[in-house]
Amino acid sequence: MKTRLANLYELQLIDSQLDELEELRGDLPLIVNELTAQMQVLQNNIDAKTEEKNEAQKKRVSNDNEIAELNEKLKKYKAQLYKVRNNKEYDALTKEIDFAETRILELEEENKELENVIGTLSLEIDELQDEIKKLQEELKEKESELKKIIQSNEKEEARLSKLREEVVSQIKKNDYNTYMRIRKARGGIAIAYVHRGSCSGCHNMIPPQRQLEIKQNNRLFTCEGCGRILISAEIAKEVEANFNK
Ligand SMILES: [Zn+2]
Repeated sequence: MKTRLANLYELQLIDSQLDELEELRGDLPLIVNELTAQMQVLQNNIDAKTEEKNEAQKKRVSNDNEIAELNEKLKKYKAQLYKVRNNKEYDALTKEIDFAETRILELEEENKELENVIGTLSLEIDELQDEIKKLQEELKEKESELKKIIQSNEKEEARLSKLREEVVSQIKKNDYNTYMRIRKARGGIAIAYVHRGSCSGCHNMIPPQRQLEIKQNNRLFTCEGCGRILISAEIAKEVEANFNK
């Protein structure tokens, strides 16, 4: 009976370690995915700002062209001023000149603003690119770190799986099924031990009489609080000491 309980507890220790390895591996792709998603958000931001910057630059060039055209016209108008024959023509020309000069001032003002916008966007794009670079380095680091962990896990996992097979072969089918059923229902932990008069799984108090019975290792007891198989602290310690050798 003692061996039966000890085997079950050893199986529990193996499964808990396998669970830990799986959990570790489960986290790895998640971290990489998160970093990749963060980088994508930054990249989208950069793309949007770059487009905005390009538009602003285009607008500035077209403003410059319009200013150049207006200056050409102004030159022409001013030359014509000397040749006017009457007040009507003079008024019409000065009106054109005023219009062109006002428009040039407007365009120059707008270009100043565009220059500011372009400068701000350039700075923002640079900052975002720095952030992406940092994330890229982090991602690279994490990926190689994860690769290493996965590789070392594979060895440990294979070792534990082999050990598990050996232990399972020594456990009766009924006990194994009970173990697996409780393990599934109780977050992976099917075997608990008596710890300071309580169940190590749910901390439910165990009556002293029951504690004595458990200590005799004659029967398979289950905790009234959580339904886990209860073993004595002595067996747990013994199996753990052997397991960690
Ligand atoms: Zn319990």
